[in-house]
Amino acid sequence: MSVYTAPLKDMKFVMNELAGLGEVARLPGYQDATPDTVEAILEEAGKFASEVLDPINYSGDQEGSIWKDGSVTTPKGFKQAYKQYVESGWAALPFDQEWGGQGLPKLVATAVEEMLTASNMSFSLCPLLTQGAIHALELVGTDLQKKLYLGKMVEGAWTGTMNLTEPQAGSDLALVRTKAERAGDHYLISGQKIFITYGEHDLAENIVHLVLARTPDAPEGVKGISLFVVPKFLVNADGSLGKRNNARCASIEHKLGIHASPTAVMVFDKAVGYLVGEENKGLSYMFIMMNAARFSVGLEGVAVAERAFQRALAYAKERLQGRDIVEGGKTVPIIRHPDVRRMLMLMKSQTEAMRALAYVVAAAMDFSLKDKNPRHQAFVDLMIPVVKGWSTETGIEVASLGVQVHGGMGFIEETGAAQHLRDARITTIYEGTTGIQAMDLVGRKIGRDGGATAKAWLGEVGKLDAQLLKFPDLDPIRKNLAAGVQAVSDCVDYIVGEKNPSGPFAGAVPFLRLMGIVAGGWQMARAALACKKNNFSDKSFSDAKIATARFYADHLLVQAPALRDTVVKGSAGVMALGEDQFLAA
Ligand SMILES: Cc1cc2nc3c(=O)[nH]c(=O)nc-3n(C[C@H](O)[C@H](O)[C@H](O)COP(=O)(O)OP(=O)(O)OC[C@H]3O[C@@H](n4cnc5c(N)ncnc54)[C@H](O)[C@@H]3O)c2cc1C
Repeated sequence: MSVYTAPLKDMKFVMNELAGLGEVARLPGYQDATPDTVEAILEEAGKFASEVLDPINYSGDQEGSIWKDGSVTTPKGFKQAYKQYVESGWAALPFDQEWGGQGLPKLVATAVEEMLTASNMSFSLCPLLTQGAIHALELVGTDLQKKLYLGKMVEGAWTGTMNLTEPQAGSDLALVRTKAERAGDHYLISGQKIFITYGEHDLAENIVHLVLARTPDAPEGVKGISLFVVPKFLVNADGSLGKRNNARCASIEHKLGIHASPTAVMVFDKAVGYLVGEENKGLSYMFIMMNAARFSVGLEGVAVAERAFQRALAYAKERLQGRDIVEGGKTVPIIRHPDVRRMLMLMKSQTEAMRALAYVVAAAMDFSLKDKNPRHQAFVDLMIPVVKGWSTETGIEVASLGVQVHGGMGFIEETGAAQHLRDARITTIYEGTTGIQAMDLVGRKIGRDGGATAKAWLGEVGKLDAQLLKFPDLDPIRKNLAAGVQAVSDCVDYIVGEKNPSGPFAGAVPFLRLMGIVAGGWQMARAALACKKNNFSDKSFSDAKIATARFYADHLLVQAPALRDTVVKGSAGVMALGEDQFLAA
């Protein structure tokens, strides 16, 4: 059985050569992120992931979380692992020192998060949601809310949730019905929420729910939604735990994957809640959480792809089948066969491209926070739907290839390959489906500024052309990247120029894929250039990186012109059939 090994070499290469860890560490407040400290953090996180979380990933999936009489018991080993996670300070890594955090850059926290997620995605969801809730309270909570909740949440002693979804309100949160009635200094929250990740569990002593609800006089639609903090146990003025609140878990879902992560139906029956920020501004606050959470879900795509790749690689080296196509002779491990190599290279190259893009976006978040130049945030905003949408769709493809490399054994649960595919499958759905991400990209991120941010980014990518020209063996990368840049540029012109929005929206998901492939190709080209210029002592790593970038150009970037045609010319076909023409009965 394959054991997760943190891909530390690639992580460090991406952080140093592509994401600019050196510059990030020079930003005010990040001086502690010295090379030695970062190295030590990555090593320790890698150990925690391999030694503590990986061993309970498969068993956690088989056992699942169990609901009984309103309580949820997580699988064997989860409680102990969570305790270790808190005691080792992992929960506090990216947060402000004012609340007990370690104040490390998002870039460093991202690498750690990738490891925790790759080794055990179900476990990692609890911190993921808690981090989103912390961000929202940090930015819009009252001083009292910050004082009462943030310390415990940053430490990891209390966890957080995000309560948006209701049976009739999924992608369309305008339909939220949960009620909030004023009662003196607080509100009474009543309604039902579904699909709430870690809405109930036994890992921590309190759960801080952030809940979307409407006050009685609120306007219709998204402009009438407010955000409330609703703790499982009320918190006394001195920070100690008080009465049990009436926020209860009615059941948990039986689902395709992430079995260890409890997905709760929550019932609020006049539960005590406190307004966060101002009334009717809840959705914009929730977007604060959602942006961070969307990035993290995109990172889940990277993480699950890495884990599926490692498992497939280990199997391909062991499984004996067929003879060498050139030399014949004895039965060989399947890694010798060209088609198995093709699958492994697709897995490796896309995982590395996704990792590089995600880490570069994480570094841009650090720059945006510390040096307020708006171009950093504009780049982050443009790329969040790409990291979320493209990395998760690709994560599923990579996990599926992992099953294929295993042959029949991939379809059998005991190898673990199937778990990655089942776990990955949710990532394109929660935190906004791929369709919703693509519409955000086309409508808000490209449409609203007339394509200016996208064109500025394409200008940056285009600058690589002159550098790539200096290395004849990188020419296939250069040509495919240039064609990719042109394809995105043509699509941006089309999106901005088209009067009827149904055309660009019909092509939104293919456009998101195009953006992802080109953004990934941009990073792989930068990676190849860094290897050429720096003459690294680790020649094996450097040669492999250049070969992987070349493979990515020939197999992925090459798809860009066809995707452009789908976006620009394909909308007529999307809307061609009447609703009664889909099934020719
Ligand atoms: C395991 C799991 C964990 C979850 N965790 C949480 C959580 O912690 N907190 C929380 O609040 N929610 C959570 N969710 C809910 C999740 O965010 C929603 O399932 C998701 O937002 C999609 O909503 P929906 O399921 O109602 O699908 P729908 O909105 O009904 O969408 C169905 C399909 O229609 C498409 N669609 C919908 N509207 C449009 C449109 N306007 N244009 C184009 N296409 C559209 C969608 O892309 C999708 O393909 C979780 C869900 C699951 C399954």
